[in-house]
Amino acid sequence: THIVKESKVDVLIIGAGPAGHMAATWFARTGVNARIIDKRSASQFVGQADGLQSRTLEIFQSFGFADRAIKESNHMLEICFWQPGEDASKGIERSGRIPDSTIGLSRFQQAVIHQGRVEGWMRDSWRKWSDNSLVLERPVQATELVIDTSIPASDIESYPVTVTVEHLKDEQAVAEQFGSKVSNGLFRQFGGDGDKNAKGETEIIHAKYVVGTDGAHSWVRRNLGISMVGESTDYIWGVLDGIPVTDFPDIRCRCAIHSAEHGSIMVIPREHNMIRLYIQLQKTPQASDSSSGRIDRSKITPELILENANKILFPYTIDMVDIKWFTAYQIGQRVATEFQKNGRVFLAGDATHTHSPKAGQGMNISMADTYNLAWKIAHIVKGVADPAILDTYESERKTIAQNLIDFDAKLSKLFSGRPAVPGIETPGVDLAEFHKVFEKGNEFASGTTVDYDGSILIDKATNELTETKRRYDEDNITTNPLATNCPIGRRLDTAQVVVQSDSKPVELADVCLSDGRWRVLYFAGDIKSNASLKNFMVKFGEYLEASDNFVKKYTPATASLYSVIDILLVHASSRTACEWNDFPSAFRPRDHKGRMDYLKIYADDTSYHQGHGHAYKKYGIDTSFGALLVVRPDGYLAKVEPLNQDGINSIEEFFAKFMIPQKVSLSNHEPIILEREEK
Ligand code: FAD
Repeated sequence: THIVKESKVDVLIIGAGPAGHMAATWFARTGVNARIIDKRSASQFVGQADGLQSRTLEIFQSFGFADRAIKESNHMLEICFWQPGEDASKGIERSGRIPDSTIGLSRFQQAVIHQGRVEGWMRDSWRKWSDNSLVLERPVQATELVIDTSIPASDIESYPVTVTVEHLKDEQAVAEQFGSKVSNGLFRQFGGDGDKNAKGETEIIHAKYVVGTDGAHSWVRRNLGISMVGESTDYIWGVLDGIPVTDFPDIRCRCAIHSAEHGSIMVIPREHNMIRLYIQLQKTPQASDSSSGRIDRSKITPELILENANKILFPYTIDMVDIKWFTAYQIGQRVATEFQKNGRVFLAGDATHTHSPKAGQGMNISMADTYNLAWKIAHIVKGVADPAILDTYESERKTIAQNLIDFDAKLSKLFSGRPAVPGIETPGVDLAEFHKVFEKGNEFASGTTVDYDGSILIDKATNELTETKRRYDEDNITTNPLATNCPIGRRLDTAQVVVQSDSKPVELADVCLSDGRWRVLYFAGDIKSNASLKNFMVKFGEYLEASDNFVKKYTPATASLYSVIDILLVHASSRTACEWNDFPSAFRPRDHKGRMDYLKIYADDTSYHQGHGHAYKKYGIDTSFGALLVVRPDGYLAKVEPLNQDGINSIEEFFAKFMIPQKVSLSNHEPIILEREEK
């Protein structure tokens, strides 16, 4: 092959679906030298995944573009259940309604919009943060990947992964589609193992890290010899997007509909008056070789899907006037045996887990994978953290993938089985159980209850030094008595507080953005009426001013003070009873030009126009004890400590396990730019 170019990059992302896009979003935000390639010539305009779960919207908010999701998507608020009535011959009846998102889990509720739009928001975000330097390179196909295993994980200056890519011509990069009338997802993957006919230019890319987000048929995964294990049957899903003409009354709600004899259907109300119908069509045995045993998907047409829908919806009828997209989507429930190789190449998204579209998880969990992974890589290539933190990627995300498959298997079985109908002898699905699984599943599906195990990045252990700390498990939740509603290992929920300096009400999550920093939330308690809390504040302020502390130790000399570990103070006294100049200067920091940061001190107090957030109550923090909450750059609560010297020591020990002291000259690294000013 004629090699046209040879280049180096810190991180190469192979595959630009939702998972690849999310990785790039982190890299752009943290200023990592990264590239992202995709073998397809154009982005997805219609079809594929459509649901955005609560946690995903929280993540978008932390990157600054949830407002676009809220404006442009359809908000899905109610689920209706339909099933055969007493007299099954009269067709289906509504049997219940529940809120679509479990109440109280998040400030954001599920929204629906097509995948291409979501990817577009992320690309806009890269453009902004990378000064237009990070662009999606397409059509570019990876064809060869080799890891130099002689280079140890600790060597972050070398480029041990060599990837050969082909810059394709547009006409080489269009997948062959079945059916011509409507845009559809019935296509054969082209290339796959490296398109032998590709005649584009060849480039050799040397990378420190590779993120393989190249989908269910992942070429990276197969190249690494990693297999998928799980269910051996594939389900076929008929999916149809269009504008309905129907007398079915709940068409603008999410509906799970079981018919007596014709199977079941899920209705998803979409943006622009569109709806999506999901029908589970049939099961196929998984062929030992992929060419046989599969049904001919090209036989599945919009007409076939609609015909099924009408049988299930009886006595109601449905037609589509404007069909936008359809597919027959064939998928098994499987998880990859490994999520990484040599600590250098990481797999994420559909490349590591496949499952039914039933709970709207594909896009969400795929983005959540790289949301977990990419900040860790960013910290390593910036020389801030030790590569050992990367071990937590597989341990954290594989558990989620397995949970997802288990949940999906349960739900799919209940959804696809025949309902237990009076008068019909065959054992059927207990619809009451279906409702229960569905409701519980919604909590899981929201993504807000993801709970990472203890690791170097999550400290759930007891510390015997202090009496206040005791670990207890309740429903597998680990909390500290100092913050009883803040499960360690889960994302810290938001609460409204007011800015001390100007009285503005803000959500705490909106001052803990995804910008790459660790955060220590210092809940100082009622400092006005409690002398010992006030004393601790003064002491903690002195500690932060001293030259050797857990903030300064890990912050490069070239960076500003709180750019690696940020400290925010939230007190529980009356805001107006506290004087600005009485707060220790560590919480009123000035930059090298003397400009003060007015956004480090908050009060859990009432606001003029938006009431009281009752943050301490929401978090289960006693105003006469307070607490130190250590929060990861991805918003997960890592540790809770008391307000005393032991608490400070314990945080020091925590960071010492994986952060790299920055006393040494940083000549080999560009200055850390985890902090970046918005343009
Ligand atoms: P993908 O979105 O699959 O992205 C992988 C990317 O990698 C692709 O753009 C591909 O071109 C690229 N790529 C592959 N190999 C290479 C290579 N060698 N070099 C360079 N690039 C490469 N989910 C739902 O929730 N509801 C649905 O109705 C639904 N329908 C679907 C229909 C279809 C036809 C498909 C394929 C998926 C559907 N999904 C659906 C699943 C959902 O789209 C995925 O879960 C989600 O896109 C996973 O994101 P990902 O980033 O992991 O992978």
